[in-house]
Amino acid sequence: MKKISAFILISFLFISGINLEAFQTVQVSFEVNVLNYEDDIFHVTVYAEGLTDENNIYNLPSTVPGTYSLLDFGRFVKSFNAYDKYGNELEVERISTNRWEISNVHKLSKIKYDIEDTFDADITEYQVIPMAGTGINENYIVLNTFAVVGFFEGLQSLPVKMKLDYNPDWTIGTSLQLDENGNYVAESYDYFADSPILMGDLTTASTTVNDIEVGVYVYSPDGSKDATNILELADTLLQAMGKYVGYSPVTRYNYLMCFLDEKTFHEIGFEGAGALEHSYSSLFVYPGFGQFGAGVQDDMAHEFLHILTPLNLHSNIIEPFNFETPTASEHLWLYEGVTEWGSDISQMRGGLISTDQYLKKLSAKISHSDNFRQDLSLTDLSLDVYSEVITMQFLNFYEKGAVTAAMLDIRLLELSNGTRGLRDVFLDLVEQYGKSKPFPEDEFFDIFVENTYPEIEEFIEDYIEGTKPLPYVEYMAKLGFNYIDEIPSENTTPALGVQIGMNEHQQLVVMGTDEITANSGLKEGDIPLKILGTEVTMENIREIFGRIRTMKLGETVNMIVQRGDEEVEINLVLHQRMDRHIFQSMDTITEQQKKLRDAWSKNL
Ligand SMILES: [Zn+2]
Repeated sequence: MKKISAFILISFLFISGINLEAFQTVQVSFEVNVLNYEDDIFHVTVYAEGLTDENNIYNLPSTVPGTYSLLDFGRFVKSFNAYDKYGNELEVERISTNRWEISNVHKLSKIKYDIEDTFDADITEYQVIPMAGTGINENYIVLNTFAVVGFFEGLQSLPVKMKLDYNPDWTIGTSLQLDENGNYVAESYDYFADSPILMGDLTTASTTVNDIEVGVYVYSPDGSKDATNILELADTLLQAMGKYVGYSPVTRYNYLMCFLDEKTFHEIGFEGAGALEHSYSSLFVYPGFGQFGAGVQDDMAHEFLHILTPLNLHSNIIEPFNFETPTASEHLWLYEGVTEWGSDISQMRGGLISTDQYLKKLSAKISHSDNFRQDLSLTDLSLDVYSEVITMQFLNFYEKGAVTAAMLDIRLLELSNGTRGLRDVFLDLVEQYGKSKPFPEDEFFDIFVENTYPEIEEFIEDYIEGTKPLPYVEYMAKLGFNYIDEIPSENTTPALGVQIGMNEHQQLVVMGTDEITANSGLKEGDIPLKILGTEVTMENIREIFGRIRTMKLGETVNMIVQRGDEEVEINLVLHQRMDRHIFQSMDTITEQQKKLRDAWSKNL
């Protein structure tokens, strides 16, 4: 890092003949103090020198890569003051939520501002998803750098240097590099923002995948989640991912994982938890209780595969990233859909799960995608991803997006006589483009067709840009699998047929129902007040559902729900669970089907 900037400095001087003093005058560095966890505030000092009128605005991000939502970190700023080198205050005008204009910026020497952590801030409107937020606590701090540190107008590409004042007994997990003076450094704001920090009483473990040093840093409130255990369970999975990737696009990669106890999790009122990908790391904020942690290894695989896309294959719309005005790329089907497909299929191809288990994952994804709007194409969903109406629909990239990629893979294998599937095409494109060569947003589909077959144009028009139902019946038959719409589940626990989630007011709400339950009169958006005579709260909902699980088929569950201004009483009958969208091997398969299935089972 230091070497690169020194090199740029020398060659710049050489070419332009500008004197060293003039160039050195633009200097910006940051100091973030989190020594006192009790005040729950990041104290930020920005040291600046040599700024001109073009740089007179200090920005905090409105959105950041991978979140596809409005975050507006300016909302969390508590105080903001600018000073000249004599300590005199300079006039500052807050010109929008995330922007501060500094008068006489050429005199600026220092900005001091306080910014709250997002986990427990008093802001209820569009909450920041925890893995993109910040949390200050006695035993750990989650520090997404973009949520605390901003940049001056016109200087997004300037190298970033940050001193961090923190509890020296703590362990730090981050992919940021330290310079010889103990500052965290990055070649630009984009790079800096791409590198979160987790610090605290952490456990750590490491492994190697291909030539990539992989580190795991874990905070667990009760010590029940431990880096060594998590890595032990994930290691074979990560090795399968390494095999799928086939080379080492980065030299290091860190998992930063923060597990929260039940009380904190509910107090903070998270709408969700999960992981956010970065180029050299990913940050997980997970509930550390109940069954929630079960999917963590799958998520580790998914996040790891993001080193291929968007890191090494992305549109010119997202590089350099527009932190000020959310700008959507239509290619989320690639960034999220292909990534999610890859993390599943590579488990089958790597021998970690059987074909049957893979097909079950595929069925589950099709079933989940039934709950989303069918009239939105993947590209429309991409382009509208910042609009509030669509927020929850975004999750369909992990369902329909992944199933679409699975079908595209089958079509490519068929057209290439089993020699070149989606993985090969994808890796070829990664090679053609890479980290610093974005593809043109509007031409990517043409590029994709040029790199494959003319028939793929129709696939894109129908299923990625269009909303035709996916051809899984026809396509899976090419591999010798039958499709069955619905069969009684092996799981004999009676079903209530209700999905409960949380709305934007932190209330429990009916998110979806199956057909039988919908026929009983329960509607999406209903707010459960009483179930089986017990008043429903966030704390007892799991206990209530536990009681329902001990009941028998045919028994009735009485519910009182709020619907608008009305209270409605509904009786739901416990019924047999059904599995939907099932794939089973055909009794006899042709030579051709066998050949394609063999190719599909291999790491192509
Ligand atoms: Zn992802």
